[in-house]
Amino acid sequence: MSDLHTLSVAELADGLRDKQFSSTELTEHFLNRIEKLDGKVNSFITVDADNARKAAKAADEQRASGDTRALLGVPMAHKDIFCTEGVLTTCGSKMLHNFISPYDATIVKNIREAGFISLGKLNMDEFAMGSDNESSYYGAVHNPWNLDRVPGGSSGGSAAATAAGFVPVATGSDTGGSIRQPASFCGLTGMKPTYGRVSRFGMIAYASSLDQAGTFGRSAEDCAYLLQPMAGHDPRDATSINRTVPNYVELLKEAKNNVGDKPFSGLKIGVAKEYFGEGLDSEVENHVRAALKQYEDLGATIVEVHITDPKVTLATYYMLAPAEASSNLSRFDGVRFGYRCDNPKNLEDLYTRSRSEGFGPEVQRRILMGTYALSAGYFDAYYTKAQKVRRVILEDFEKAFKECDLIACPTAPTPAYSLNDELDPVTMYLGDVYTIAVNLAGLPAISMPAGFTEAGLPVGLQLIGNHWDDDKLLTTAHLYQQHTDYHTKLSAIAKESI
Ligand code: GLN
Repeated sequence: MSDLHTLSVAELADGLRDKQFSSTELTEHFLNRIEKLDGKVNSFITVDADNARKAAKAADEQRASGDTRALLGVPMAHKDIFCTEGVLTTCGSKMLHNFISPYDATIVKNIREAGFISLGKLNMDEFAMGSDNESSYYGAVHNPWNLDRVPGGSSGGSAAATAAGFVPVATGSDTGGSIRQPASFCGLTGMKPTYGRVSRFGMIAYASSLDQAGTFGRSAEDCAYLLQPMAGHDPRDATSINRTVPNYVELLKEAKNNVGDKPFSGLKIGVAKEYFGEGLDSEVENHVRAALKQYEDLGATIVEVHITDPKVTLATYYMLAPAEASSNLSRFDGVRFGYRCDNPKNLEDLYTRSRSEGFGPEVQRRILMGTYALSAGYFDAYYTKAQKVRRVILEDFEKAFKECDLIACPTAPTPAYSLNDELDPVTMYLGDVYTIAVNLAGLPAISMPAGFTEAGLPVGLQLIGNHWDDDKLLTTAHLYQQHTDYHTKLSAIAKESI
C-alpha cells in the first residue's frame, strides 16, 4: 500500500489488528519516505532505523502471540528535547552534539509501553528557543506545504515530519507556543496540555514553570491517542499532578456518537478583542472569524471576554522565560555534558569558551537577558514585577472563564513566513503574542486547521481551556473536525508518493 502515511492512528491500529499490514511493513514505509524525502525538509536530526526495525519485528511477534495492545507497532517520533536511552539527544544544539542519554524521559517510556515505535529524533530550535526552527545547529526545517517557508518553532521538526507524512504523530514541547504555532503553520492539530498533566522528567528544561510536553497529529483524535499514554502523575516530576486521567479516546468516541447537527449547543465560546488586534494578518483574521461563525451555526454561543493586553503578556514572558533559561542552562559548563572546548587554559577559560562555542546566538541572547533580569540590582524591577503581572494574567483568565467554557482566537498573527525573511529577534518574539499567555497561566490549549490562505498556506484556530479541561478541548476540536475537512488536506510533500 503506498498511502499508509495518510491513515489516521485509529486506521493504522485497525489495519494492524486486521492484518492488512504488519508493523514491519508500516515502519519500512515511513522509513522509506524519510530516506527519499527528508532531504528536502530536514525534519529529523537522528533517524533511528535499526532500533525501529527491531521494535517493529518484536511488535509483529508479540501481536502474533496474542498481545492485544491497540497501538502495538504504530510508528511515531520524538522532538529531540526528550532524553532517549542509548540514542543521541541534542536539543538542537552543538552543546549536546554528542550527548547519549543514560535514561529515557518518562513520556518516552510510557509511549513505548503503549506499543508505539520511535523512528527517531526531530529537529527543533536550539534549546526550544525560537519560533521558526532557524536557530537549530542542525539547520533550518522547511515547511512541507511550501519548502520556501518556515515550519514554525520551536517544535518545527515535529510539525514538519507529521505534515510530510514521515510519521503519523509526534511529540513536542510548548513553553510559549512551540506546539501550537508550528501546528498552525503546518496545517496540523497540536495540543499543549494543562501544566502538570504530563511529566517533564527527562525533557531538557528551558523555562521549567512554563514547559509542557504535548502532541502533534493531523486530527484531534490522533492527538488523543498519543496524549493518552503521556498523561498522568510521575513521582519523578514534582510539578506533575496526581489526578485521574480521563480516557480521552473513549470520550471522543462518545461525543461523536451522542450529537446531532447542533453538537455545540450549550457551549459558550469567549472571544476577546485583545486577540484580534494590530498586526493580525487579514486572511488569518477572516478564516478565524469564519470558523467562529461555523461554531455558532453548529450551536455554540459567542460571548465577549477580556484578557490581559497581549503586549504586556509578551513582555512578561520575555522576562521570565529567559530568567529561568539562564538558570537552567548553567549546567552546560563543558564539564558535565556534551561540548567541551579544545585545550582550555584554565577553569574559567573552559567555562567561557565551551559555552561561547557550544551555544548559538539566540541561546546566548536569552542567557544574557535572563542573567540581567536576575542580577542583584535589577531583580525587583524586572523579575519580581514580571511575576506579579503573571498573577494578573492568571486572574484575568479566571474572570473570563466565569463567562465562557473556552476562549477562541488565532494561534499566530500570520501564516508561515518565508525562510529568507530572517526576522530580527523582536519581530520574531511578536509572533508569539497569542500563545504565551496560556503558558504563563498553566492552561491547556489546542491549535487546529481552520482554512488556507490564497497562497495555499494553513491557518490555525486556537482554543484555550480552563485548567484540566484538556478533554473538553479535544472533544470540541474533534467535533469541529467532523463538520470540516481542513485537517484532511495533505501538504505537497505528503502528496508525494515514493
Ligand atoms: N517562541 C517562544 C520562545 O522562543 C516559545 C518557544 C517554546 O514554546 N519552546 O521562547
